[in-house]
Amino acid sequence: MKRKIRGRRDIGIWTATVLLALAFCLSGCGAAPVRQQTSVDTAMGTIVTQTLYVRQERGHTGKESEAEGGTEGESAFVMELLAQLEQQELSWRIEDSELARINARADTGADVSMEEEPDVIPVSSSMQDILGQIWQISTDSGGALDVTLGRLSRLWNLDELAVSAGKGQTHIPAAEQIQSALEDTGFERVRLSEGTITLPAGMQLDLGAVGKGIACDRISAYLHSRPQVTGAVVAVGGSVVTYGEKPDGSPWKVAIMHPREEGNYLGILSLTGEHYISTSGDYERYVMAEGVRYHHIFDPVTGYPARSGLCSVTIVCDSGLQADALSTACFVLGAERGLDLAKSYGAEALFVDEVGTLYMTEGMREIFSAGQ
Ligand code: ADP
Ligand code: MG
Repeated sequence: MKRKIRGRRDIGIWTATVLLALAFCLSGCGAAPVRQQTSVDTAMGTIVTQTLYVRQERGHTGKESEAEGGTEGESAFVMELLAQLEQQELSWRIEDSELARINARADTGADVSMEEEPDVIPVSSSMQDILGQIWQISTDSGGALDVTLGRLSRLWNLDELAVSAGKGQTHIPAAEQIQSALEDTGFERVRLSEGTITLPAGMQLDLGAVGKGIACDRISAYLHSRPQVTGAVVAVGGSVVTYGEKPDGSPWKVAIMHPREEGNYLGILSLTGEHYISTSGDYERYVMAEGVRYHHIFDPVTGYPARSGLCSVTIVCDSGLQADALSTACFVLGAERGLDLAKSYGAEALFVDEVGTLYMTEGMREIFSAGQ
């Protein structure tokens, strides 16, 4: 009996020693330290903010070595990734990108024979995958998301509109021009097949509604290939990816801008692990003319900036492309139909309407806290 008690105590002391040693090692004796770095750059026409946590490996000299450039190297690589995505794949402005080449093939103007004979264009497997996902969301949203409205978004040209508004002479497109641009839109008129896309002549694609979300997907894929990156939060404009964890185990905090109080936050999202967050609002790019707000999210039915009653939509889900596409689609659909769409994708949603009412999915209530 005595021996048994002593045995237990011995085991207890032994266990405590092991746990202490383990705690000591984790707190620094063997574990490489994790360094935090925050950087702010521009890419894809927006601001990119990165906070990366990178484990500093010890080199054979015993000193901490910044493997392949360390934290700075990692964030520079992320910027390189975004530049490539824009230049080689998604930009309609950069002549040699895949999207620009697709548009150039479809842009046959008044060529009647081409109008009768739709243009079949080869696409890369990556573009095929992107377009396939977009077409699904276009179908599920009843066309609220429609990336075939390239002619319409170029007609509105919000950047030029802002310049003209600055000079006191806002050039709102005429109703006939909008009608004519709308005739060249319609995702249901496009055929996607294995390795090709068939666009009616004159149609132009605009991937602005999903580009930053796709960027978040690519960033995440890169981070997964870097075991020394233990955590990250990267914002590409209104699209954000959280990855891994913070060294202290606390949740990621993602601020949601107040749509009507510039510089203020509506509230904070607290998230652990990997998530994709996207916000679409009418306060990012807009022009006020005679009391009307002309912004950059269009209703594919009317051809005018969407007036669904919402002024901000935030989506949280497990894909960057989906988060970005859904935030644009829900903005067009409005609160009721938007919530249904978000839920059908298993996404969390937070909407703000023009009188400041908040609409949230159940899961959003658990991760969102209002206020600064
Ligand atoms: P941001 O680009 O500011 O993140 P969004 O993700 O909502 O905002 O995308 C808006 C962009 O998407 C517009 O600048 C335009 O190029 C394009 N767009 C606007 N309305 C639609 C729509 N209904 N469907 C698809 N693309 C759209
Ligand atoms: Mg979007």
